[in-house]
Amino acid sequence: MKTEYIKVDFETEAGTQGIRLAAECIKNGGLVVFPTETVYGLGADGTSADAAKRIYEAKGRPSDNPLIIHIAQPEDASLYAETDAIYKTLADAFMPGPLTVVMKAKESVPLATRGGLSTVAVRCPAHPVANLLIRLSGVCIAAPSANLSGKPSPTDARQVAEDMMGRVDMILDDGSADFGLESTIVKIEEDGSLTLLRPGRITPEELKAATGVPLAISDAVTGKLKEGAAAPSPGMKYRHYAPSAPLTLLEGDAEKCIGFIKNEGSAAIGIIAYDEDVPRFRAAFPEARIYSFGKREDELTQAHELFKLLRLMDKDPLTQIYAPLPRKSGIGLALYNRMIRAASHSIVRL
Ligand code: AMP
Ligand code: MG
Repeated sequence: MKTEYIKVDFETEAGTQGIRLAAECIKNGGLVVFPTETVYGLGADGTSADAAKRIYEAKGRPSDNPLIIHIAQPEDASLYAETDAIYKTLADAFMPGPLTVVMKAKESVPLATRGGLSTVAVRCPAHPVANLLIRLSGVCIAAPSANLSGKPSPTDARQVAEDMMGRVDMILDDGSADFGLESTIVKIEEDGSLTLLRPGRITPEELKAATGVPLAISDAVTGKLKEGAAAPSPGMKYRHYAPSAPLTLLEGDAEKCIGFIKNEGSAAIGIIAYDEDVPRFRAAFPEARIYSFGKREDELTQAHELFKLLRLMDKDPLTQIYAPLPRKSGIGLALYNRMIRAASHSIVRL
């Protein structure tokens, strides 16, 4: 398949024309990669079972892993889901923005899009390109992240091109994604409580403060899904983000980490380090590749860098990677959740 690659630019006629062409492509059942404020999405008509099938094929994604549908304005959720007062509260507080809400689905969303579930995940992106694309398409856009299944989500258009050239009709390039990790996913339960299924830019603390509703954090967010247990969010059961070299997360200060790494004695090591610790790691391991992760307290920068670093490290010939274990609160929880998966739960507390 020939992929049309278009640089988006709101300042020029040609730049916005690209978004118009992409909307036509969606209407005609095509696949379009587009930027959002979290990561790049791989979109198609969310009301078409055939379009959903094409998305699963392009990603190499198992078809029981449901897609998030994207809407142009929060009110449109009621076209596709049974919305209630809690949805309205969440929408008023966080939409448009990086929050996905799982609710009981309406028949207008085909089972293929929802991975066979009775619920549907809905998000209203704030990114101007995503928002205009959905508006012009006139339908909701089903879109998972625009990576090949198992790889980190793409946070800029070059990474998209690596995975998706020849597999989609169009790629809209708008540079680097703002946040860099996928949306927060929260489910509205039948009793009106909330369950956090995936942490992201919108934190559990913010969700609780805005709604005043009890919020459970799904076990799979911070741990390993038990053998044979049903996944509350099907995406949780798949291998995710793992770089080709094994990754170990270390909890402890730089001195302790240096002692531990020396003791392990791996051949070609890569170390993701907070900026403050980079000089010490460089001095201790002159042969190693040291990747700076942002300052210790700057979780927004770390979120922005993580997937880029995971992809970059796959291009370096490494036999072992080390990274710091993030904290479990605020945006740290989103980093923690992605990094324990990338590390296949290999954590050493020093
Ligand atoms: P991605 O599209 O790559 O951001 O992944 C979408 C995530 O949303 C996956 O982990 C899915 O399992 C999850 N998801 C989508 N729809 C639902 C749903 N109805 N219930 C629970 N999780 C969902
Ligand atoms: Mg994904």
